[in-house]
Amino acid sequence: MELLKKRILEVGAVVSDQILKLDAILNHQVDPQLIKAIGQEFARLFGESKPTKVLTVESSGIPIAYATAYELGVPLVFARRKKPVTMVDDLYVERVPSFTKGIVTDIMVASEFLKADDRVLLVDDFIANGDAARGLIRIIERSGAELLGVGIAVEKAFQAGGSSIRERGIRVESLARIASLEGGRITFAD
Ligand code: 5GP
Repeated sequence: MELLKKRILEVGAVVSDQILKLDAILNHQVDPQLIKAIGQEFARLFGESKPTKVLTVESSGIPIAYATAYELGVPLVFARRKKPVTMVDDLYVERVPSFTKGIVTDIMVASEFLKADDRVLLVDDFIANGDAARGLIRIIERSGAELLGVGIAVEKAFQAGGSSIRERGIRVESLARIASLEGGRITFAD
């Protein structure tokens, strides 16, 4: 997606060979026009498969997932990382390592919001090693819902997450694929 790549080049800060900071548009401050365009693109890519839910994990996945769900006209469900007192019923809980925080956290979804007849589009901001996506996929599998595919804004193609999920026969669409961050330079894969 050319607009996303352009914005990444304008505001992206290379923190290390492994980490790209997009706090100006995605991860702290949010660019609503860009996020809206991302939502439209995911809706265009996955709309034909008729999702009934868009699933992400808090917090940075939420704006993109919201924009996508809005375009598709379906609810957004975001997995929580902390259990609020209101979340008392049946939960699907999965333990996942957090790439940027360097810790292991639980992610959880109340079973009332993910049913066996749901057709789920999974959406997230970044994919690195794929732990967050795999945790969400395990939750979808446990619910009995159908996973239609995975929409990722920024795939770091030099890390294994995207390819490991594609190898399982799951459709993964990334709007910007980064081949390398070496030497402080952002190089796209295509
Ligand atoms: P994974 O679970 O695929 O290893 O990492 C994905 C999660 O870690 C994403 O939800 C994202 O929030 C965060 N993440 C991974 N790599 C980066 C990065 O280079 N920059 C930022 N800002 N977040 C990242």
